[in-house]
Amino acid sequence: MNEKSKLAVQPSCADAFDSDSLTVKQARDAIRAALTPLAVDEFVPIRSALGRVLAADCISPIDVPSHTNSAMDGYAFAGSDLPPKGMRDYRVVATVLAGQSTTRVCAAGECVRIMTGAPMPPGTDTVVMQEQVEVLADEQVRIDARHRGGQNVRQAGEDIKSGTAVFGPGHLLRAADVGVLASLGFGELRVRRRPRVAFFSTGDELRSIGEPLAEGEIYDSNRYTLFAMLTQAGVDITDMGVVRDDASALADAFARAAEVADVVITSGGVSVGEADYTKKILSQQGEVSFWTIAMKPGRPLTFGRLGKAVFFGLPGNPVAVMLTFQQFVRPALHYLASGEWPQQLVFEAASATALKKKPGRFEFVRGILYRDETGAIAVKPSGAQGSGILTSMSRANCLILLDEDCAGVKAGEPVPVEPFSTQL
Ligand code: AMP
Ligand code: MG
Repeated sequence: MNEKSKLAVQPSCADAFDSDSLTVKQARDAIRAALTPLAVDEFVPIRSALGRVLAADCISPIDVPSHTNSAMDGYAFAGSDLPPKGMRDYRVVATVLAGQSTTRVCAAGECVRIMTGAPMPPGTDTVVMQEQVEVLADEQVRIDARHRGGQNVRQAGEDIKSGTAVFGPGHLLRAADVGVLASLGFGELRVRRRPRVAFFSTGDELRSIGEPLAEGEIYDSNRYTLFAMLTQAGVDITDMGVVRDDASALADAFARAAEVADVVITSGGVSVGEADYTKKILSQQGEVSFWTIAMKPGRPLTFGRLGKAVFFGLPGNPVAVMLTFQQFVRPALHYLASGEWPQQLVFEAASATALKKKPGRFEFVRGILYRDETGAIAVKPSGAQGSGILTSMSRANCLILLDEDCAGVKAGEPVPVEPFSTQL
């Protein structure tokens, strides 16, 4: 752990505006400074490449498209042979379908029937779509003067030129990228190893799905939310189950997790309650860097090092788990995998309602982006905002970002929003 990340703060949880708290930005910077991106490569088949991070330049061995071809079903002409005015008739001397080609040179007064994707015949550089051609008898067609030389033709290499690097190291592969690489003939790709993440829930009150609930017990939901978010993050997952609020059981789980993972994530036990052991055990087995952030929800968050692994002790409250994961863990995992800290899209939308807030901490309000009666994009809170109310997250498609300085928002005022779903 380097000096920059040693931002140890007082373990006081009593005051939400604790002067020892880190700001969200300080916490992000400290986390980033403490991480070293993974530098191990492996090969994957292209079908498994979605969500992986490239480890090397992908240099195109070919032009895409590989030949100059027609963008339309129609007729190929020489641009210089188009009628400057009035009409002109041409003889159709050949037909080329996609996948075929012709060596027949097209002379003045001639054209070639051509389908989309077929290579342009010699002597032609222009395609007239079939809807704009009048078909006459005896293999003759007629066109008028509205056409431009060169129209409706895709040039060889217009998308990608042979020898150019299409994507570089650190690039996260999305569906379109997988298609682009397939169009270049890549069957296997050199990618970075995925971060290995081990995680478990802590709490005596937690029961697993399938068990009956006694008085005071709840189902462990955080492990499932975390499993889902880790799956989306494209990491290797080790689910270590539920660990009781028991110092030796926890110490044992911490040690086992650090052996198998690059990143260890726990939920619960990071406050100052009787049974909140996370910070204590982390300080015994590793190193605690900080543990309060001036944010809501998600104020208590333990970050540190556990053996060779990076440690995130997320709060227990289900919304706080999601928030701290989205804001800190998810980008950290991406940084480990790619060496790039991801930048989220943030834009402004009019707040449909007034939002109460005191300056001092960063508040993440779960919001719903929607179209109002005028068709403009507006945003409203997704309902009750308690950090245990996970349905506030289920209903939301964005976070409304109220930064430390914000002292409340009036109805109609623009507010910054960070969408996490592309559906309204
Ligand atoms: P803690 O930080 O352990 O005090 O937990 C804070 C709150 O989150 C308590 O109400 C816990 O019952 C709840 N909680 C902790 N862990 C989980 C979990 N895995 N699933 C659902 N709720 C949890
Ligand atoms: Mg607990």
